[in-house]
Amino acid sequence: MRTLDNVDVAGKRVFIRVDFNVPLDKERHVTDDLRIRAVLPTIKKVLEGGGKAVLASHLGRPKGKVVDEFSLKPVGEYLSGLLDREVPVSSDCVGDEVEKQVRRLKDGDLILLENLRFHAGEEKNDEGFSKQLASLAEIYVNDAFAVSHRAHASVHGITRFVPLCAAGYQLEKEIKYYRQAMEEPKRPVAMVIGGAKVSTKIDVLENLIDKVDFLLIGGAMANTFLKARGNAVGKSLVEDDHMETATRLLEEAKKKGVKVYLPVDAVVARSLESTDDVRQVPVEEVPSDDKILDVGTETIEVFESVLQKCSTIVWNGPLGAFETHPFEKGTFALAEYLGNLDALTVVGGGDSAAAVKEAKVDDKVSYVSTGGGAFLEMLEGKTLPGIAALEECEKRS
Ligand code: ADP
Ligand code: MG
Repeated sequence: MRTLDNVDVAGKRVFIRVDFNVPLDKERHVTDDLRIRAVLPTIKKVLEGGGKAVLASHLGRPKGKVVDEFSLKPVGEYLSGLLDREVPVSSDCVGDEVEKQVRRLKDGDLILLENLRFHAGEEKNDEGFSKQLASLAEIYVNDAFAVSHRAHASVHGITRFVPLCAAGYQLEKEIKYYRQAMEEPKRPVAMVIGGAKVSTKIDVLENLIDKVDFLLIGGAMANTFLKARGNAVGKSLVEDDHMETATRLLEEAKKKGVKVYLPVDAVVARSLESTDDVRQVPVEEVPSDDKILDVGTETIEVFESVLQKCSTIVWNGPLGAFETHPFEKGTFALAEYLGNLDALTVVGGGDSAAAVKEAKVDDKVSYVSTGGGAFLEMLEGKTLPGIAALEECEKRS
């Protein structure tokens, strides 16, 4: 795929789709700048190469209307602090006024367009809106992995109307790590999967069974597998309508020679709120009034003994209800263990990324994906619309 390193941006207007959908507090200050920092290399490359950077993003869910609360102005201010220069924010993302502003940019200048989702055409991938966006630039760069699973105008439609497309550094990195881990991995490969539900990850599990050597299942998702296997799981979160799915997946794994590990012990309590009766029990002995809220220490030991022989490890989904103390222990223990391994370790998923950050190992694992839903769709083996669009555009030009 064509990347920023293969295009000459000098003197060109470069539309950069970024993901500045960052959390803001009540005073509208940015509270987590991970997504902003992630695209700085791309922005700097364009500016230093003498290009004119036109940054575009969405923020929140204004649903096609102008909603002041979702203005990108506070993000512009924040970015201005990071770049140590003024970042003008236009009053809209399309229209005469914006076009004039963009055409006035000098080489090395930048502008941040106002929220793309103030227009319904963005999420509808509307052709007219896509053309309007495209008219702002001579080069299109996608550096918004986290929205690349959406066929929206600024991710998809626009690529049909610009002369040249390229992937930004962040997107390139996401694809590189995914390919290294899932397409041409050093074996053995293990996937650790957890989280709340089997139902949201059936396609991931299906796809992975063809790719990995070991499948380690934790989190509430494991409860459905345990119950399908015949263990009583008390009042734990279980998807009774997916017991058959679980059984089928276990059979498929067996057929394909994938070794599956389920928890051998569990941390249980009456509820997330009543933590004075927290106990660790073997999975065969979950009390009928209790809930499984984390994996136990023996499970972690088993998981570690498997992971220790692997060259590639992908992790999605917390092993327990890690947001509530003391049920973070399994998830954090795994995070720390991965952080100390020499293997290629890739973590993805919104909550999983938050967990490794909280456990302070986000810079010790090989890579933490910036895309929640987009990362899961990659794990499902899908081609993301935004990435496919870049490839199509490259074929044409
Ligand atoms: P990700 O966003 O990383 O893909 P998910 O959204 O699938 O992960 O799952 C994360 C959620 O699963 C967390 O909110 C966590 O509290 C919950 N969870 C994990 N294990 C359990 C459990 N045993 N009981 C209840 N909730 C759990
Ligand atoms: Mg989640």
